[in-house]
Amino acid sequence: MLGSLQLLQPNTVDEASGALRDFAERGKVYAGGDELLLLMRRGLLQSEILVDIKRIERLRGIAWNDGALSVGACSTHHILETHPLVREHAPSFAYAESQVANVRVRNQGTLGGNLCFNDPHSDPGTVLLVHNASVTLGSQRGERQIPLNEFFLDVYETALEPDELILDVQIPSLPSGMISAYLRLHRFQRPTLGVAAGIKMNDGTIAESRLAVGCVGPKAQRLAGLETKINGSSISDAKRILAEQKNYLRDLLRPVDDLLGCADYKLYMTGVMLGEALERVALREDDTLGIIARQKGSSSQ
Ligand SMILES: Cc1cc2nc3c(=O)[nH]c(=O)nc-3n(C[C@H](O)[C@H](O)[C@H](O)COP(=O)(O)OP(=O)(O)OC[C@H]3O[C@@H](n4cnc5c(N)ncnc54)[C@H](O)[C@@H]3O)c2cc1C
Repeated sequence: MLGSLQLLQPNTVDEASGALRDFAERGKVYAGGDELLLLMRRGLLQSEILVDIKRIERLRGIAWNDGALSVGACSTHHILETHPLVREHAPSFAYAESQVANVRVRNQGTLGGNLCFNDPHSDPGTVLLVHNASVTLGSQRGERQIPLNEFFLDVYETALEPDELILDVQIPSLPSGMISAYLRLHRFQRPTLGVAAGIKMNDGTIAESRLAVGCVGPKAQRLAGLETKINGSSISDAKRILAEQKNYLRDLLRPVDDLLGCADYKLYMTGVMLGEALERVALREDDTLGIIARQKGSSSQ
């Protein structure tokens, strides 16, 4: 049961940030409440004042500007999975959003809440890393933009200051000709493993690659060292290289046993699913769910 709570509904970032500063530990940002209310009901988190940010115009809306999607932090997963601009410019991200939990959670939960909570078993962050996405943070002290890979610090830990909000997420399109895929392994609603790949082929070899993995360790990660190794290889050589990288993956991802899978299983399946993602993008296999999607404006290699 929840005790009595005070609900504040500020109209501006300035007001919300001021309330967070004034109430400190007693106040919490409340977006969709998917996570927040669950934790409070279970007594894992205490709060007297909820600062509901959904009325703040600056945190709403989806737009396409200068080669990047700008997504307001209060956009729900359901809006993102169905929005025409997202499906056109970041289709693998739209697909990842369609895989979040169930329609009730997707209708309520927001992208900003998902990234701020930073549960390791999440979908959107992994594919956003392949897009080199960044987040705009705002408070009474002004705004700052930081890359998503610097925003995620550790399990449930981010670079957000106590009086800051995520205002929006900037999602650049992938390079021209790059095809992307997001693959997910799950037994329950939350993913056991998520892998994202962006591959640009040239004459049968990988000209450019972007790889990311989520759910295995404390946070979603780009695999920059592996990308360098597979660039210039055929898909079958890249799969062979992948198979030899267990130590690299273990050191980087720091896999842990948890309720969704043991560390060794997640590590093994990371190799399998990265290989699968490479094959799918190389074959340009498409399916009706839009798992694989050719980026707009790509060349016909
Ligand atoms: C049953 C269930 C299944 C789920 N399955 C999945 C899944 O399959 N994949 C997946 O990715 N996720 C999953 N989730 C997680 C859920 O979808 C996200 O965590 C949700 O999007 C959180 O958003 P929210 O708006 O509800 O956040 P809230 O619950 O309102 O807030 C979460 C946290 O973020 C803070 N916060 C929220 N918005 C902001 C902001 N703009 N700026 C600063 N701080 C902010 C809050 O203070 C709180 O600490 C699941 C959740 C549940 C309950």
